[in-house]
Amino acid sequence: MDHDHVRGVDPVVADALEGEIERQQDTLSMIASENHVSRAVLDAQGSALTNKYAEGYPGARYYGGCRYADEVEQLAIDRATELFGAEHVNVQPHSGTQANQAVYFAMLEPGDKILSLDLTHGGHLSHGHPANFTGQLYEVEQYEVDPETGYLDYDGLADHAAEFEPDIIVSGYSAYPREVEWERIQDVAEEVDALHLADIAHITGLVAAGVHSSPVGVADFVTGSTHKTIRSGRGGIVMTNEEYADDIDSAVFPGGQGGPLMHNIAGKAVGFGEALEPEFETYAERTVANAKALGETLADHGLSLVSGGTDNHLVLVDLRESHPDTTGGDAEEALEDAGIVLNANTVPGETRSAFNPSGIRAGTPALTTRGFDEDDLRTVGDLIARVIDSPDDEDVIADVSESVDELCAANPLYE
Ligand SMILES: *Cc1c(COP(=O)(O)O)cnc(C)c1O
Repeated sequence: MDHDHVRGVDPVVADALEGEIERQQDTLSMIASENHVSRAVLDAQGSALTNKYAEGYPGARYYGGCRYADEVEQLAIDRATELFGAEHVNVQPHSGTQANQAVYFAMLEPGDKILSLDLTHGGHLSHGHPANFTGQLYEVEQYEVDPETGYLDYDGLADHAAEFEPDIIVSGYSAYPREVEWERIQDVAEEVDALHLADIAHITGLVAAGVHSSPVGVADFVTGSTHKTIRSGRGGIVMTNEEYADDIDSAVFPGGQGGPLMHNIAGKAVGFGEALEPEFETYAERTVANAKALGETLADHGLSLVSGGTDNHLVLVDLRESHPDTTGGDAEEALEDAGIVLNANTVPGETRSAFNPSGIRAGTPALTTRGFDEDDLRTVGDLIARVIDSPDDEDVIADVSESVDELCAANPLYE
């Protein structure tokens, strides 16, 4: 893939763009929130729609010349509606965080109460972290996973909600390897008369494919990112029912954003179209099967998995017992030297810091897109375990690098 037009005016940026493609080709991308979009989605996102102002919604814009913008946005909406079965879909949020912002802005007043999962237990910054606007505008308390099992503590959540009386309960997580029981959280929300926001950012593709149960039709609001398991390019989405449709639309625009990123919405339209094809269901199933194969292999090597395994696209490894002297940061760094890119992550009951936590998180969405199967993921699991056992051994790193090169060459990307 070349960038001749960029190279003509800006060789430095062209080098960086081509370097990034090579980096993606030559390393194992195992950051659980990342994926590789198709060439079709890439082209749509890098299109002339970036030039177009289209404030408003299809058929009701504040600008002329919106014929194609309308066509593309309506396609994205219709395809998302078909994928998720939601009554109302808004495809304009610039990201998953902006999608959440729209829900809070539509439904809450400053000082209202949010009950969400603790960040170190798998939650997200936009669910009430002190450094995020949510932590500063709203009163936030947090629920937790069961420290013994690593599964969500639904009973603890119910007790906490009864005591705190939140205005909104947030479900949906960044580092939770198990199936979420949306109905149980919805029951708690109804019990205390709270709204329920289900943020499926990570699992949007798994939900679309029916590989994870759907909160659509259960929770009042469902938000997501469009670039994680759904491979539709960077962006966000909000879904709700007819009752809240107008409130959400006004909270996205003009409430929180100006002109929509029409080129990204074109990417969403193309990516959602791809996700409607039967192959996407196979992709989502393989993503989960691959994560299970990875988790089992890591466990066979004596690594401890939070919750003991996975139901979705990611595994969370707690290094404290098996490797008390290796932090998540140490592991992340050594693995990157060997060409395996993932991230250090906090674990439930974290005893280090968010900056250098005790775990690593590894996901299979991107590798599965490249064609990796369960055998490949067992090989990758062996390689990860070898590096974590000897993070400072240069021979091991060199050896693993070679195996990574072979795996990458056998599963080409953007040919
Ligand atoms: C990734 C993520 C988001 C959104 O992230 P953006 O980078 O803003 O798209 C929101 N919620 C959760 C739980 C996430 O994991």
